[in-house]
Amino acid sequence: MVEEQLARRGITDPQVLMAMRTIPRHLFTDENFWGRAYEDHPLPIGQGQTISQPYMVALMTQTLKVRDDDRVLEIGTGSGYQAAILSHLVKKVFTIERHGALAKRAREAFDTLNIHSIAIRIGDGTIGWSEYAPYDGIVVTAGSPDVPQPLLDQLSKDGGRLVIPVGDRGFQQLKIITRNGDNWATTEDVGCTFVPLVGKHGWSEGDK
Ligand code: SAM
Repeated sequence: MVEEQLARRGITDPQVLMAMRTIPRHLFTDENFWGRAYEDHPLPIGQGQTISQPYMVALMTQTLKVRDDDRVLEIGTGSGYQAAILSHLVKKVFTIERHGALAKRAREAFDTLNIHSIAIRIGDGTIGWSEYAPYDGIVVTAGSPDVPQPLLDQLSKDGGRLVIPVGDRGFQQLKIITRNGDNWATTEDVGCTFVPLVGKHGWSEGDK
């Protein structure tokens, strides 16, 4: 997975490659999918949600450019895989998931791997997690119609970075927003397709 799907496609950060080598992706999927856990695509995790493609997890992590004493927030815990990868790189990870059943399974996977540096909250991640702000990095792993204002506000003024897929429900563009003081600069990366970000500053449950 690391050589063929990541290194060959431009994932060059040695720490990201090491994290992807170290965290066993199969433990974040149902046992029925263990034989396919290292393939080049998302997999179902229940509740109509997915564990993201390994390449997308690595790309978003590399794009965040975290350092080991950073505080990072993830929106969309899902299986917990992306949070576990981040926990390999930084001291503290905060992650929010709207489905309680997924949050519970993610917690079990963290416990199995003895990962104790991840705090999970069940709720709407589009409003962020203000109690622990500001964050050096925020990664949103669901597709949003726009950039939620609370996430911009909760970025560190000292170069905080937000990585978020923005677009319609079927296709998004990965946006990277960097905050310096009260300026937010945006660049765009690859096109992608994520499940919808559903919440106050995302899609409504019934939106098409
Ligand atoms: N990062 C995940 C992983 O490594 O498995 C992939 C997550 S999946 C592509 C997106 C997740 O975002 C889903 O579990 C979904 O329930 C969650 N989600 C969608 N809207 C949300 C919201 N407003 N707040 C928190 N989680 C949300």
